[in-house]
Amino acid sequence: MRDRTTLKRAMARESKQAKLDRTRKIIEGLQATYPDAHCELNHSNPLELLIATILSAQCTDKRVNLVTPQLFKRYPTAAAYASAPAAELEEAIKSTGFFRNKTKSIKAACQSLVEKHGGQVPRTMEELRELGGVGRKTANVVLGNAFNLNCGVVVDTHVARLAQRLGLTAEEAPEKIEQVLMQLVPQDQWTLFSHLLIWHGRRRCFARNPDCPNCEIKHLCPRIGVK
Ligand code: SF4
Repeated sequence: MRDRTTLKRAMARESKQAKLDRTRKIIEGLQATYPDAHCELNHSNPLELLIATILSAQCTDKRVNLVTPQLFKRYPTAAAYASAPAAELEEAIKSTGFFRNKTKSIKAACQSLVEKHGGQVPRTMEELRELGGVGRKTANVVLGNAFNLNCGVVVDTHVARLAQRLGLTAEEAPEKIEQVLMQLVPQDQWTLFSHLLIWHGRRRCFARNPDCPNCEIKHLCPRIGVK
């Protein structure tokens, strides 16, 4: 078993063109494996996706999807979240964890939506980032999935882990990983690419004990850092 340093060196020896070619093949392999890969947070409009994405921090999509049907019915507009008593909203989202911070983020974001955007979710990274409580990852999820705009690559825990194991980057910080992936993946596939890595991370390339023997793209993977 090669150690991590050796593998990192091997990764550094791969030419930019070879990495681009390998990334293209990884995308093809994952597309063939998950032809239906999509955002697994249930939503029917941009506001619902924004709220679901805020709730998904440190929580599974499955759990978020258990909470949101009632939540979306109770708070159908940004104004409804903005004017809701914090304690009431906290109670409604409690099971997603970190509910006090999430309530603050939701109320701050919805307050800004009401005050600056007529209650509508804006369509630019800059405007989304200016909403209280919305980070780059959340903005990328909303832009890519609610508006079909490829402004960046969503880097969550799965994307970060797989990008490293696949030898696409040795970076650790999500913002830096995103910059590398944006160089390797064609822009019109940025949103799709994060779905593919997230689906593979949930179904095969688990954080603990990845199922490498049965992995559909094992011939393309240097398995950086995998014991
Ligand atoms: S070979 Fe293993 S480490 Fe590489 S992508 Fe597949 S499951 Fe993940």
